[in-house]
Amino acid sequence: MHELGICDALLKMVDKIAKDEQLDGIKKITVEVGTLSGVVPRYLEDCWTAVVDGTAYLDTEFVVEVITGKAKCFDCGEEFDAGINDKLICPHCGGNRLIPISGRDLTLKEIEAI
Ligand SMILES: [Zn+2]
Repeated sequence: MHELGICDALLKMVDKIAKDEQLDGIKKITVEVGTLSGVVPRYLEDCWTAVVDGTAYLDTEFVVEVITGKAKCFDCGEEFDAGINDKLICPHCGGNRLIPISGRDLTLKEIEAI
């Protein structure tokens, strides 16, 4: 489960920004997760809760926004939306040789200071 490593990295990033900007605290952070990033939003939320335990970010609201990715079928060339729970199979021809076009990223979108 690499979500824990991601949350750990996110926390360090947020902490660095808070220190650099001399913020008193962080009210809310928003991350964007693409459906083809391999990250499960629900796990991400659970892991965030685990990594902030005992830190100054215990009360920071953690918001995950899911961005629907797109994939392209290698066999028929069809492009389609790829949801997070979808089995990655081309809806057009049933092929499974797919090229991710977008939605592979996880980005720290917004930090809201107190
Ligand atoms: Zn296809």
